[in-house]
Amino acid sequence: MERKIVGIVSGKGGVGKTSLTASLASLAQKDIKTQVIVMDCDVDAPNLAIILPALDEAKIKKEDTFATRKAKFIEDQCVNCKKCIDDHFCEFNALNWDNQNSIPIIDFLKCEGCGACRVLCPEHAFEINTVKSGEIISYKSKIGFPLIYGKTRLGSTSSGKLVSDVKEYVNNSKDIDNSNLILIDGPPGIGCPVIATISNLDYVITISEPTPSGLHDLIRVIEVIQHFGIPFGLIINKSDLKSPFTEEFQKFISDTGYIKLGEIPFDLSIPQAMSYAESVVEFAPDSKASIVIKKIFENLKKILWE
Ligand code: SF4
Ligand code: SF4
Repeated sequence: MERKIVGIVSGKGGVGKTSLTASLASLAQKDIKTQVIVMDCDVDAPNLAIILPALDEAKIKKEDTFATRKAKFIEDQCVNCKKCIDDHFCEFNALNWDNQNSIPIIDFLKCEGCGACRVLCPEHAFEINTVKSGEIISYKSKIGFPLIYGKTRLGSTSSGKLVSDVKEYVNNSKDIDNSNLILIDGPPGIGCPVIATISNLDYVITISEPTPSGLHDLIRVIEVIQHFGIPFGLIINKSDLKSPFTEEFQKFISDTGYIKLGEIPFDLSIPQAMSYAESVVEFAPDSKASIVIKKIFENLKKILWE
């Protein structure tokens, strides 16, 4: 079967994206027709690895990435004129004045690496360097498939670049030739990391809850997906929520004609599975949620390969 790359995204976090990815990955691993690679591109808060730990911790591979630029102060060059503060060189408020030593101090977390201080300081007392921005971690999971994820470093300003690096890492890995399905747990929202995740996918699954904010965020993420012209399907999580808004949410989907891949009912098995760090289809295979997720996986296979 031709290799397909599928992203699971949501307009906001905490709506079941990672839990769903873990379950789809488990089902794909058990299916004799699919050879799956799993990626977590939610690089600012990767937690798929908690549900899908490594088979052998000693074999976990880590690779540093360097994509963030930060200013560095060169004290020997400084003549203590304080222009950098008085003339507000830094738009990001990353420069503070050290009264005791009469020198500027760079706030590492606030610095965006824009380079203004380097250009404006008459004594060339700043330089801009590329610093460690995160890491790519890869291993064989306990269930059996390769899992690769990115993790940003505190203060990194390059989450989108790290997502692209993770995707490239997988493209160059030796596992890629043996795979026919790549599942990506995407970041929430519609920012740069989401765009980096969505580009070049074959299919996108969106998951959302039937609430006013859920619909608002769903519409935003669909706009991004449609911008790239990628086919997508919707999953409603906690679809049986007794909310006055549920009907309106369902009406939106039927009016737009978007493909609905399934509706996952509220099921305590899901948080229970999470507390045991397992996917729900493994933890409670006969639960209401697992039965629906299995149907969603069968639906997905038909869409991808039939
Ligand atoms: S860093 Fe440059 S602008 Fe700031 S006090 Fe030193 S010499 Fe003056
Ligand atoms: S590089 Fe830009 S953001 Fe960083 S300290 Fe200099 S002016 Fe501020």
